Amino acid sequence: MHLILIGAPGSGKGTQAKRLVTRYGIVHISTGDMLREAVSSGSDLGEVISTYLRAGRLVPDNHVTALVEERVDRGDLPDGFVIDGYPRTCNQIGAFDDLVKKRNRRLDAVVCIDVPDVSVISRMANRRIDPDTGRIYNLNLKADWPSLDIMERLVQRDDDRPSVIQKRLDTYRAETRPVIETYGERGELLEVDGTGSPDEVFDRVILALSTLKAPS
Ligand code: ADP
Repeated sequence: MHLILIGAPGSGKGTQAKRLVTRYGIVHISTGDMLREAVSSGSDLGEVISTYLRAGRLVPDNHVTALVEERVDRGDLPDGFVIDGYPRTCNQIGAFDDLVKKRNRRLDAVVCIDVPDVSVISRMANRRIDPDTGRIYNLNLKADWPSLDIMERLVQRDDDRPSVIQKRLDTYRAETRPVIETYGERGELLEVDGTGSPDEVFDRVILALSTLKAPS
């Protein structure tokens, strides 16, 4: 299974990607996670990347494509991958097409998770991360609240601050909506309603994937 997950920031791509990994035994490639790792490494490139992330801007195509290439070339993807966060610009589509072709891989589908703006804004503003375990909590969901000691150590992603959220949504509309349209025109897009609980959304993703023909 070779999939791309696409959708607005905060649409739940990371959550669904993790479930797809468990279901299909595939590898999760998240450009956002890889970029944040580059920032934490403290390298010079990490410093440069951090200025883009904190501003809610896209990192230049060549850096992101190089990261995806390195990851795909690590050679531990026998059952495929789910890429979350790439391609995000029309240029990246071309780079990804080349990458897939040169490595004799294929793309089975691009799954787009649709969530209205009001919901993604609220999800991003209420997202907190446990720095010790990496677990993500949504403060809007009382049932999801951790114990008090964990609650005290939760942190917010730099780019989940309200001033940056708006910029990320603008960037998404300008750069990534055209990517979704292109995959739609190519007949490779599966659109899924991303509202409701993660389980409900996952059921819809699996249902959409069940319509794919087996590769010949
Ligand atoms: P989200 O989808 O919620 O914005 P991600 O963790 O996927 O979160 O990405 C965080 C940030 O990383 C983006 O706002 C952008 O700055 C950068 N980024 C991730 N993927 C790409 C990409 N394919 N091209 C350029 N920048 C990217």
